[in-house]
Parts: sequence; structure tokens; C-alpha cells
Amino acid sequence: MLPIEIALDQWIEEAIKRRASDIHFDAVEGGVCIRYRIDGLLQEEDRVLSPRADQVINRIKVESNMDIGEKRLPQDGRWYWQREALTCLLRVSSLPSLYGETIVCRITGNEGAHKSLVELGLPAPLVSDVLAVLHRSYGLFLVCGPTGSGKTATLYALLKTLPVESESIVSLEDPVEVSLKGVVQVPIQERAGLTFGQGLRSILRQDPDTIMVGEIRDRETAQLAIQAALTGHRVLSTIHTNRAEEVEDRLVNIGVDRYLVKATLQGVLSQRLVRTSCSHCQQGQTNRVGSLSSVAEENRHTLELRQDVSVRIREDTLCPYCHGSGYYGRTAVFEVLLLPELGKRQDLGGYSSYIRQSLEEQGQQLVLQGRTRPEELARVGIF
Ligand SMILES: [Zn+2]
Repeated sequence: MLPIEIALDQWIEEAIKRRASDIHFDAVEGGVCIRYRIDGLLQEEDRVLSPRADQVINRIKVESNMDIGEKRLPQDGRWYWQREALTCLLRVSSLPSLYGETIVCRITGNEGAHKSLVELGLPAPLVSDVLAVLHRSYGLFLVCGPTGSGKTATLYALLKTLPVESESIVSLEDPVEVSLKGVVQVPIQERAGLTFGQGLRSILRQDPDTIMVGEIRDRETAQLAIQAALTGHRVLSTIHTNRAEEVEDRLVNIGVDRYLVKATLQGVLSQRLVRTSCSHCQQGQTNRVGSLSSVAEENRHTLELRQDVSVRIREDTLCPYCHGSGYYGRTAVFEVLLLPELGKRQDLGGYSSYIRQSLEEQGQQLVLQGRTRPEELARVGIF
């Protein structure tokens, strides 16, 4: 059996090669189940039995500077992992659960953080319209969508279009995942008392041109962000709603006056991440299906009797690029809401007439282009 350190290195290396965003070490009865999150979905990679499983968990805790004596409370840590040419920062968290500690390692900085809006999936004709609205001197610009829909990568892409040399740009992030040139990035440290609200107060005293707030999730942050937008700052943030039109009601629910939302909101991008079809299996699909069914036909009896044979046949014919999932990589689908300039609004009324593109419209386009499938759109709640 491999030494623990080497086995861990191999799991991490494999996870990076397969573009995983997280590695789960889930405590299950009798051991640990290792799973990778690839393109948003978990896939089981390996299982380790006790007592070796405990050694694996301990090793991860040592590497990420956690207290190995503490098993009853959640902990978090960081692990700068390196092996030959590969390096990455793992953000590690432990959670005491029924069968022991469950550990999740987030592999940071490897997905989307350096992409442009077009690379993220915003159709090129809409990019200049979005930027024209964002580049107005002040007001609130929001990105919304469920957790894990790629909002942060979009915020980064928006920030990168601003003139960093001539403007002062400050961001409040929880945590700072990727360093951005020309942006003063402030990490939130709630335990030390630096919350979004507190940080925003301090930032406003320095009067920057643009403020990026990682997320608006409480009354204080919402009111300060709106206040900043009203007093001549450009404010970018994310908010947890499903559709662009719901942003106003969400802010009102949090505790902002409706007229202040109408007086500051400039634009909203709502987004989802959908998996894109694997181009390699699309090319070889007919062959693959053909060979699978003929093999299955010949071996039907054997297959019924011996499950391991069917597993072997499946593995032989799996597409090496997507490991048989049929998907490789993800793209964002955007809904774009752009409002007129603040001085030129008569009565805004409903937002629906300002939707430039809905999630359904872009989703449909992607299906027509053969880049994703209807069932994938349904999985993320579009249609
Ligand atoms: Zn494939």
C-alpha cells in the first residue's frame, strides 16, 4: 500500500488534471469516500478504510495547519500544495460528522478567475452594452444567481475592464481568491470584526471611485452599498436571487427603501453555469454506441451473470476526455438587465422591458449551437 503522503499527492494531482474544483474526503461508515467535484457535480474517485482513513484525515490536517487534537469542532486551514511543476492553494475545511471528520479541499484560482466576459460566456454583441452601463461614473451594478453559479468570476471580469491606472478601486472579499492588478483587495475577517459592513464604512472614508463588495447579504451592507452608489461611487456586488428582475424586491426585503434602489440600480447580470457537451464524444458517439450495443448483445448472458464484466466493458469504451460523462467544461448563461441613465428615467415601471437577454434565450442558443443539451439547462433550472 502506498505511503499516505504519496497517495494524497496522487489524489490531488489527479483532481487538478481532471479540472476538479473541490476534493471531498467524506467520513462514511468504516472509512472515507473520496470524491471530486468536476463541472459542478461530484464523482466518486476512491475509498479508504479505517484505520488508514484516519491517517489520511490527520495528514491533511497537519498539512493545512489545523489542530489534529481537535476533532469535535469545525476548523479551516490552507495547504500550499506542490509537486514537481504543479502547484495549488487548497482551502481546507473540516466538519465533525457522524462517522468522523469530513474534509473538503477547495482548489482555488483554477476556474474562470482570469477570463474575460466573452470567455465566460457573455455573447460578444452584449458585452459593449454591459460595459457602457458599468462605466457610467456611479451607481449600483449587481451580479445574481445561486451559489456556485460563477458570480465572483464575473465580478472579476467586470472589474478588469475599469481603468485601474486612473481610478481607485477597492474590493472587499470573503476570501480573496485571486490577486487583481491595480485593485486594493481587502479580505473579510469576521472573527476579527472586519465584516462587509465594517469594511465598507472604512473604505468610504478613503473615497475610492469603485467599490467591489463580495456579497450583499445583510441590511447594513445593503444600505451602505446603496449609500455609496448614491454619493457618486460605482458599486459592484453580488446578491442571491435567481432572476435579474427580483433584485429590487430582494434589496427591499433586506431593508433598503424601494425608491433608493430605483435611484441607484444601473444593471444586473443573472447567471447559471451549464456544462458544455464533450466535443470528443460527440464526434465518436455513433461508434461508441455501436460497439457498446454489439458487445452487450454478444455478452448479454455473461453481463447479466457477472457485473464486473459490464464494468470493464464500460471502462474500455469511456471517452478519455470526459470520463464518459458526456460533458467537458462549463459556460455561463446570462440574463442581462440594463437600465437607462439615472437622469433619463421617467418612470421605470416594471423591469421586464429592460431585459436585453433572458436566461432562456441564451440557453436556447447554446442548444441550437450544439454546445449543451436541454436536460442540462433543466438541471440548472432554465426551462
Ligand atoms: Zn467525452
